[in-house]
Amino acid sequence: MKKMINLKINDIPVTVPEGTSVLQAAKAANIKIPSLCYLKDVNCIGACRVCVVEIKGRRGLMAACTYPVEEGIEVYTNSPMVRASRKTTIELILSTHRKKCLSCVRSNQCELQKLARDYMVDEDRFRGEEPAYEIDQTTPYVIRDNNKCIQCLRCVSTCNKIQGVGAIGQIRRGFDVRVGSPFDQGLDSTSCVGCGQCIVACPVGALYEKSNIDDVWAAIDNPDKKVVFFTAPSIAATLGEFFDLPPGTHVERQMVQAIRMLGDVEVFNMNVTADLTILEEANELIERIQTKKPLPMFTSCCPGWIKFMEHNYHDLLPNLSTCKSPQGMFGALLKSYYCQKNHIDPKDLFVVSVIPCTAKKFEVSRPELGHKGMPDVDVALTTRELGRMIREAGIYFNDLAGEDFDDPFALASGAGKIFGATGGVMEAALRTAANILDGTNEKIEFMDVRGTPGIKEATYRIAGTEVDVCVASGLANARKVVEMVRSGEKNYLFIEIMACPGGCINGGGQPLQRDSVRNYVDLKSLRAAVLYDSDKENEMRCSHESPVCQMLYDEYLEKPGKAKAHSLLHTSYTPR
Ligand code: SF4
Ligand code: SF4
Ligand code: SF4
Repeated sequence: MKKMINLKINDIPVTVPEGTSVLQAAKAANIKIPSLCYLKDVNCIGACRVCVVEIKGRRGLMAACTYPVEEGIEVYTNSPMVRASRKTTIELILSTHRKKCLSCVRSNQCELQKLARDYMVDEDRFRGEEPAYEIDQTTPYVIRDNNKCIQCLRCVSTCNKIQGVGAIGQIRRGFDVRVGSPFDQGLDSTSCVGCGQCIVACPVGALYEKSNIDDVWAAIDNPDKKVVFFTAPSIAATLGEFFDLPPGTHVERQMVQAIRMLGDVEVFNMNVTADLTILEEANELIERIQTKKPLPMFTSCCPGWIKFMEHNYHDLLPNLSTCKSPQGMFGALLKSYYCQKNHIDPKDLFVVSVIPCTAKKFEVSRPELGHKGMPDVDVALTTRELGRMIREAGIYFNDLAGEDFDDPFALASGAGKIFGATGGVMEAALRTAANILDGTNEKIEFMDVRGTPGIKEATYRIAGTEVDVCVASGLANARKVVEMVRSGEKNYLFIEIMACPGGCINGGGQPLQRDSVRNYVDLKSLRAAVLYDSDKENEMRCSHESPVCQMLYDEYLEKPGKAKAHSLLHTSYTPR
């Protein structure tokens, strides 16, 4: 048990465990110390000097994020010296910041804008030399605008420490220092996996997704196009935050109605192809065991993880399931089965997926996920982009009564729903494996693979055999698991990896939350709880029970893994 430390903050006695920072201790006294570069579990470098405090008897000001509590110290968070220092610091940051607040994608959600207002700064007090950097638009998913960057390094820590990718870092020296890729190349020349975690870490509008909103409006307004949307499992758990609903609000039915109000569109449920993924993946795993193909098998639902493997572990590409992601499967079915059934020329069908991340924007541009140069999914919109479209259309989202998805892709199992949280794909697979191989439908909940730890291991007895499985989220954790597999230290049969810590509910395209929320609220658990609660309420909990999947196999796909299903639902990978 940790030793407890007594101190005073603004004359209020506080007792906190040893090692707590002054910033965290202040929260215990209901006092907020502003911060900018600090992000819990990601970045703690005391660089921006916004969180400075006075400590009685010490000279100068201390950064509260890096200063650990000491017995008996007296901290002042709101003295004249502290307020003046913070104000000057913010004014200095603004002196080189390209202020485009009215049209900035982060307007109203920008942490710098909020601080400027809270401290009533003069934004033009210091007129510094304004750098003019070229905006990096080289990837189809993330835009980097160094003219707005305030050098907090939250993105750099995220990419290096949490994702273990290292695509960006500080480059150059002195006044010219900036965040960039090695040799100042475009992001497309790096091993960036497109996860978008740097975007959600950024406090200002220096990082944002490449928007496809105009493409979607153009398709909706084109009378020659039929427009269909489908939404990923996690969107229903997060979209409400865009409209200021508390984290953990389930808005699936409002989301469907709001999309339908955008124009003459149909709205489908991507949980259907999450179910289909389980059926195809289960079949593939059994075939790998029987034919002695490479094991362990890694899941392939997450395009950020797939790109990570293509860059870093060419020798293990044969261990990736060949199943397309649920997004890839849905696009392929729409441009084939759905078009044939409804007598639509595939070139007249405009397919929009609503997805939790920017990695899926990259995925839709993969040539292998299309036919004859035509992509299966025309546009992938992040949760934030969908929110912006709903806002632009003037829809009172929070007042909507809600509607159901459109047939034939409406009904899905609870197992499909939990795909949006780390461990969800594994649990869905275990449900089907236990049910089909053991002939029991009693075991539905596999608690060992749930929750937010970065790496989870479990052993289950299935078909009389002990099966070791592993679940990891966050690519730095994924790298640890891959290295353990490669060295032979671990001998799992099946491994689920999601690039984003906590899975898609915490994806890089999800609604932005300020550091004041991210540092103190367990967003991942609140959002995941929506999916698990909804799964529990679902009468159908297992993917193999899905009547929609059954219909798809009967009418079109024949059987899991058979030629037709294989050509439409499976893919291949490219060493990069
Ligand atoms: S998208 Fe992901 S991998 Fe790429 S720079 Fe951002 S955090 Fe790094
Ligand atoms: S891009 Fe954003 S997160 Fe990265 S250093 Fe600049 S301001 Fe900070
Ligand atoms: S975990 Fe989900 S949100 Fe994150 S990159 Fe993978 S698919 Fe996208």
